Amino acid sequence: PVPVIGIDGPSASGKGTVGARVAEALGFQHLDSGSLYRLVALAGMREGVALDDEVALARIAAALPASFEGDTVFLAGDDVTNAIRSEACSVGASKVAVLPAVREALFWRQRAYRRAPGLVAEGRDIGSVIFPDAPVKIFLTASAEARAERRYKQLIDKGMPANMDDLLSDLRERDARDSQRAVAPLKRSEDAALLDTSEMTIQQAVDFVLQQAAA
Ligand code: C5P
Repeated sequence: PVPVIGIDGPSASGKGTVGARVAEALGFQHLDSGSLYRLVALAGMREGVALDDEVALARIAAALPASFEGDTVFLAGDDVTNAIRSEACSVGASKVAVLPAVREALFWRQRAYRRAPGLVAEGRDIGSVIFPDAPVKIFLTASAEARAERRYKQLIDKGMPANMDDLLSDLRERDARDSQRAVAPLKRSEDAALLDTSEMTIQQAVDFVLQQAAA
């Protein structure tokens, strides 16, 4: 079977950056599954759909007109790379992600990324639900403070508004929603290696994942 490296963990833990670099180093496909939930939330908001309307959101998820070109994300041809990273979309994504029909609609879409020579996928339930047979599973985390600080820097770098207190309370709220929901709650599966990156550089985290993959 095509190898999968699954990287799960909370918001802003650095999964995305680490996953992208590992995929590049190995020449693997890359799936940032969080972007799919963000896209569903954005598409829903644009269509004026309430973010708890499961039927409407599942329909949107099933027919999501999304495409990826390198780091650029398109929704129906629109460049939404920055839009899906906004706090509104972060909060929205964690709301639509509690809906079982939305998760179901995104399940097969995620499975289709498993193509030779391999896949690096990050999210919340990659190792537990999407690819339970992944040979390499990592649970990548960091303290809420370290994560809020990273998000703050990212937003400022992009010239977007950012407030440290708001970011920290949003993160905690999302952590709670992600870990307390009934379907695919965020938690480390027993077979995932734990990596706390609070005091680590990105490169150290990348090296750890590459070592796990080589073992
Ligand atoms: O990882 P990211 O912060 O981009 O994900 C946005 C939201 O999407 C998360 O807060 C989580 O609720 C949801 N998500 C999920 N399952 C995944 C990936 C993301 O529930 N595999």
